[in-house]
Amino acid sequence: MPASSDPGEHPSLMPTYDRFDLRFERGEGVYLYDGDGSRYLDALAGIAVNVLGYAHPRLVDVGREAVEGVHHVSNLYGIEPQVRAAELLGEVAFESSVFFCNSGAEANEAAIKLARRLRSRPGRPGRAILSFENSFHGRTLGALSVTGQEKYREGFEPLVPEVRYATFNDPAGVEAAMDEQVCAVIVEPLQGEGGIHPADPAFMERIRTCCDRYESLFIVDEVQAGMGRTGRWFGYQHHDVQPDVITLAKGIAGGFPMGAMVARRSLREGFQPGDHASTFGGNPFVSRMAVEVLRTIREEELLANVRRVSDRLVGGLQDLSERYEPVGEPRGKGFMLGVPLEDSLAARAVVEEGHRQGLLMGLAGSNALRLVPPLILTERECDQLLDRLEAALEALT
Ligand SMILES: *Cc1c(COP(=O)(O)O)cnc(C)c1O
Repeated sequence: MPASSDPGEHPSLMPTYDRFDLRFERGEGVYLYDGDGSRYLDALAGIAVNVLGYAHPRLVDVGREAVEGVHHVSNLYGIEPQVRAAELLGEVAFESSVFFCNSGAEANEAAIKLARRLRSRPGRPGRAILSFENSFHGRTLGALSVTGQEKYREGFEPLVPEVRYATFNDPAGVEAAMDEQVCAVIVEPLQGEGGIHPADPAFMERIRTCCDRYESLFIVDEVQAGMGRTGRWFGYQHHDVQPDVITLAKGIAGGFPMGAMVARRSLREGFQPGDHASTFGGNPFVSRMAVEVLRTIREEELLANVRRVSDRLVGGLQDLSERYEPVGEPRGKGFMLGVPLEDSLAARAVVEEGHRQGLLMGLAGSNALRLVPPLILTERECDQLLDRLEAALEALT
């Protein structure tokens, strides 16, 4: 049977994705190649996942060794690379204990379960969770229940009860929504799916104060903003706050499925053997990849690269916003940038024209482009990205 021209239309697949008619056969660095050999600069990176781009030599070597060695054993046995990955996370975040899983949604599930578990002790009632409007925390029922966007939740009710929503970046709203019933607050340091909106320092600080007052867990969802994307290891590190838990996935293993819940060391006793588990979570293969990603970001000084090249990228985007009427001011941090567009220019049309110009971009929020390139993007590649984006805008305006 001939392949359908649109893989999203194929009856053998659930139609959960609105796919573009593009297929890739090979990747190298920040570039992907389709079957005709056309080259695309990838400023989407598998949605903020491929932090080291494609076919990174260090991941190729470690991946081969990992498959030839022990690729999977269950968590019934010791897994040395898992310990190394957790220790490295502790070095770049804070003294912690880590639970490994396979995705961002699962990392948030683990954090919610930990918060509930801690409140199951005698004399510590309160099971409510405070989240924020316009947030995104994943698609499993628990993570969906704390996702503050109606369009994702609609039709899946009843969801997990006792979730409250307050307005993002409104410190007084946090204050009003908090009481002793709240066992956890979950927030993105920079809202991703919601349209690339950074949290204000005063907002993050007020959450910390309120969590201290009611002994609630301050959970920062770093699934998209973490792993160097904003020019620091984690988004919360742009603020003067210390979270109790951070959740990770997307970039953590450079494109191999892994999630992690990183909790303050003093919360370690919150889970006991049997309380939570994941068959694949932190298996030897993916843990080795995560260790190599963490070491590579550190040794190749990619955080500094993100900061340096981001300044150039933001400057170029500002220039485009001055020269093209429907293009707004860029927002975000590091390599997590959004470019809002006026209604007269649909972001989806720009993304599609970008494909013709050899550029892959994403969408975020109501009408914005999302740029989340690999952390290895060089200045030369940044200029090429801007040239191709300009060519797409030129073709449409
Ligand atoms: C992508 C994302 C998730 C969900 O991650 P999955 O791996 O798709 O489950 C959760 N939170 C944030 C902030 C995300 O960007």
